Amino acid sequence: MASRAVKTATTLRSRFGVVSPPIADALVYLVDRRIRVRLTDLPQGISGATYAEEPAGAVIWLDTDDSPTRKRFTLFHELGHLLLHPGTFYCARGAISHPMMEREANKFAAELLMPKPWIIADVRQGQLTIPQLSARYRVSWQAMRVRLKELGLSDG
Ligand SMILES: [Zn+2]
Repeated sequence: MASRAVKTATTLRSRFGVVSPPIADALVYLVDRRIRVRLTDLPQGISGATYAEEPAGAVIWLDTDDSPTRKRFTLFHELGHLLLHPGTFYCARGAISHPMMEREANKFAAELLMPKPWIIADVRQGQLTIPQLSARYRVSWQAMRVRLKELGLSDG
């Protein structure tokens, strides 16, 4: 049975008719147009934050200094918190620890940006390299590498 993170990501894609990569960043606003996304200089070690402000909406903070692909992954990680978890989050950079909610938000972001069935189809069909797949899905090489490994599709 699919996890809650996977189910939520799958439901969103089908609700908004998203059938091919890359997922648009604006999907966040389709999910809830009250969400505001802000860029700021976050404290060292923090890559994103979510502040749920009911009933006014929510604010997602991304770190100005992060690369575009990193910001994008964080954006959807934070959206995962908004959809799956109550409260406010300050998300640490890297995998220093794996509290359950952080892992779930990462899983949501990975499944939304790099849907398992799409990745499997691409890998089976083509000779796409990691840089090509990363460009197609607009994610970092590292995120794609991790995803392929998770799905059992990489040699290394
Ligand atoms: Zn988080």
